[in-house]
Amino acid sequence: SRPSYLCGLIGSGISKSLTPSLHEAEGRAQGVGYVYRIFDLETLGMGVEGLPHLLAAAKLLGFNGLNITHPCKQMIIPLLDDLSDDARTLGAVNTVHIDGGRLIGHNTDWSGFARNMDEGLDGAPTDRVVQLGAGGAGAAVAYAALTRGAEHFTIIDADATRSQQLRDSLAAMFPDRVVVSGDLTAVPAAVGAAQGLIHATPLGMAHHPGMALDAELLRSDLWVADVVYRPAETELLRRARDIGARTLSGIGMAVGQAVDSFRIFTELEPDALRMREHMRLL
Ligand code: NAD
Repeated sequence: SRPSYLCGLIGSGISKSLTPSLHEAEGRAQGVGYVYRIFDLETLGMGVEGLPHLLAAAKLLGFNGLNITHPCKQMIIPLLDDLSDDARTLGAVNTVHIDGGRLIGHNTDWSGFARNMDEGLDGAPTDRVVQLGAGGAGAAVAYAALTRGAEHFTIIDADATRSQQLRDSLAAMFPDRVVVSGDLTAVPAAVGAAQGLIHATPLGMAHHPGMALDAELLRSDLWVADVVYRPAETELLRRARDIGARTLSGIGMAVGQAVDSFRIFTELEPDALRMREHMRLL
């Protein structure tokens, strides 16, 4: 009989997530059974203290894997049996493989963004990069940029404590690179000196309209990558594209993390282009 997979997503306020459809469509296209369910803490009327119960239930019911999102990516760690090296380094898990009853944590947020850089920035200079936003997504994409070779990396956040903390942990992970942090006053000089800009704040989302920097700072020779993926083209990306800059949308990261999670859950090779096309149609 054909193999089948049972997976899910745990987080809060995720009832409209596109991830189930993305995974199930790829399962169908691969000719396997694939069911992907949402466990929304909000809908279930649970706080994060419900996490151990949901994990135990998923294990009992024979789930193959779970994606983990806000606000559970850190607090799930002590509940797992083992971690991939990168999940351990990042201190964040978005993918749990349930393998013979053992719970193994992975992080495909960073690898999804790295894949996105490989595909969309081929040949672009990545030595000097500036990033706005040092939150959860920011930590993963900064790790991706440094893993992909950024030599000089500037991290800026409206909350100076956050950018300083992320700077310190990145500097410890990549001791041979120059990693600096700054507050918002540092944006013009840092962007002026950079070859690429990564945007990892919520600005540009439908309910957070606007841009995290002055559009005057954009240049045609400055690539711009956004993590925001709804809308697919944020104001930042539209303005960068208008002046001829290379851009990478957050869709690539969202698809990339799903591609890597699908592979971990099923041990089948997903078709990344097909998943991207499916996301475009959602
Ligand atoms: P977060 O709240 O953890 O972090 C956001 C950070 O941005 C905070 O530290 C905040 O201080 C900072 N910030 C806000 N406004 C700023 C400004 N004007 N300038 C500089 N810094 C500013 O949020 P998060 O979980 O990191 O998510 C950020 C965005 O990433 C969200 O829009 C989310 O939808 C998106 N995201 C996308 C993907 C994907 O797969 N494409 C994955 C995860 C998150």
